[in-house]
Amino acid sequence: MAVRIDGKKISQQIKDELKEKVSALRQEGKEGTLAVIQVGADPASSVYVRNKKNACAYIGIGSLSYELKEDTSEEELLRLVEELNGKEEVKGILVQLPLPSHICEANVIHAISPEKDVDGFHPQSVGKLAIGEPGFAPCTPAGIIQLLKRSGIEIAGKHCVVIGRSNIVGKPMALLTLKENATVTVTHSKTKNLPEICRQADILIVAMGKPRFIGAEYVKEGAVVIDVGIHRDAGNKLCGDVKFEEVEPIASAITPVPGGVGPMTIAMLMDNCVRGIEKGPNTMLQG
Ligand code: NAP
Repeated sequence: MAVRIDGKKISQQIKDELKEKVSALRQEGKEGTLAVIQVGADPASSVYVRNKKNACAYIGIGSLSYELKEDTSEEELLRLVEELNGKEEVKGILVQLPLPSHICEANVIHAISPEKDVDGFHPQSVGKLAIGEPGFAPCTPAGIIQLLKRSGIEIAGKHCVVIGRSNIVGKPMALLTLKENATVTVTHSKTKNLPEICRQADILIVAMGKPRFIGAEYVKEGAVVIDVGIHRDAGNKLCGDVKFEEVEPIASAITPVPGGVGPMTIAMLMDNCVRGIEKGPNTMLQG
């Protein structure tokens, strides 16, 4: 029976460590604020934004909140991002996705100063991740690396199979596990023989966005299974991409949904904000 990886506990540990770090930075005169922009009032986005503001308050950093109307134009949003780029006290800028369809997400992501790109989605952050330079890594995959490391799971030399190739999870996940010296296979909707490839994984990371899709036939005995998916089932219960009850007896370790990967995303966002503060005012010079 698999060990359940407790993302709630690990994210709390990280937030407590960050709280101490923030307090030490304040003694050195280094402080900062996260600016969170939400366009429209999508209920799920509102919950995420509220959780982010609460996490800032918990670790002791400021947060500025911009709740813009659904019909805000792209120009108005870009003007706000530009204004925040120029504010010294703002060390991180986060635009909650998805944006309304009349706004081009790429234009907005590109407008955020790479020095304040705490989501790690700017092409410069992505490029740095790809060539192994320090920079902001996307929070969900960075959180998964922390889940593995803090659970004592060796990554180096392991065969890591990632299901999904999105810009926010699958691709950065592949780069981060590669950086940790795993042998990495990335799979997607056009992959042939998916169960056979997945059964070769020592670490299977599932980010496909398909509720309860991955069953026992995808998992090798003793594999570590990380479930990134998050859905509500017909009974309004949260579930992941993995058939948990079917896979748990086969795996050596597994993340539950909820309480696995989910809580790590905000913890790593806070980690990125603290990194932004640590760099101090001359972030451009320090790279
Ligand atoms: P996405 O952009 O929809 O990407 C899904 C990926 O899965 C795509 O690359 C797709 O392949 C692949 N895929 C879909 N069906 C497949 C199949 N039958 N076989 C193999 N691959 C398949 O989703 P995402 O943004 O990466 O998110 C994935 C899941 O994680 C979602 O449930 C999302 O809600 C969740 N999520 C959770 C957190 C968290 O904090 N816990 C954060 C982010 C996302 P193609 O590229 O070929 O289409």
